[in-house]
Amino acid sequence: MARRLEQRRVISPYRSHQAGADRVRMILEQFRILRDKGTEAAGSHKFDKLFPESGVYTCAGCNAPLYKANHKFRSGCGWPAYFDNIPGAVTRHEDRSWGMSRTEIVCSNCGGHLGHVFKGEGYPTPTDERHCVNGVSLNFNPDDPVVKKPEEDAKESKA
Ligand SMILES: [Zn+2]
Repeated sequence: MARRLEQRRVISPYRSHQAGADRVRMILEQFRILRDKGTEAAGSHKFDKLFPESGVYTCAGCNAPLYKANHKFRSGCGWPAYFDNIPGAVTRHEDRSWGMSRTEIVCSNCGGHLGHVFKGEGYPTPTDERHCVNGVSLNFNPDDPVVKKPEEDAKESKA
């Protein structure tokens, strides 16, 4: 019996090592993008094709709520795209890297790199802006506790 228990102990650290290696790889990719202003491969992130009815996308670096689910639209560009952000949650900077003039967007709370904003591309959205955001810079929270509108509260209490 004692020997069997020992064998199990030998196997389980190996398994957790595998899970740990995957986790480390994910953290390194998040770090490369959030802090080193990298860009994930187009179409690589599950958030690109995620369109929930409600909820909020938060900063992967600090958990600040950045975008509401209904800010997201189908851009076909390969990255999660939003036409607007939660007021004040996202800060814009001019980015002159790679010989281009672009507008970089960062988390207002922690300064983590999110992506870029493009304007006037002709998308049928209220702002005609596209926040092109790296999926790894975001987490998704299906609850919407912070940015719920007062009307929605009223509707729920009637039901
Ligand atoms: Zn942040």
